Amino acid sequence: MLQDVNFRNAVITELMCICKTGNTIPSLRSITYMWEVIPQNSKMVELIAEYWAAECSTEEFDNSVEMLPGGFVKMLARIGIRDKGMSSDIRKPSKREKCRYHEHASESEKCK
Ligand SMILES: [Zn+2]
Repeated sequence: MLQDVNFRNAVITELMCICKTGNTIPSLRSITYMWEVIPQNSKMVELIAEYWAAECSTEEFDNSVEMLPGGFVKMLARIGIRDKGMSSDIRKPSKREKCRYHEHASESEKCK
């Protein structure tokens, strides 16, 4: 099911709602599973990585880094470098535009 782009967009919208609560970040188990089944260049992976980069504490990162997929850790590092200087509030996925994480074939298909 996660190979279907429409399903992924619906899940992404739900994930963005979950991100708004900011109470928790996706578990190590969730990330490992996602990394295995979802294309690594997909918007869903980008959302989860940006969510982690914005919300993860230093302690959570230190406790997880050795068990996270290496490619995911590289994504976190890249996001951290790209977004340095941005306020932590702006970096949260829930504060970014809705279609940032959706996969649309063209501009005309973007959410209204
Ligand atoms: Zn959209």
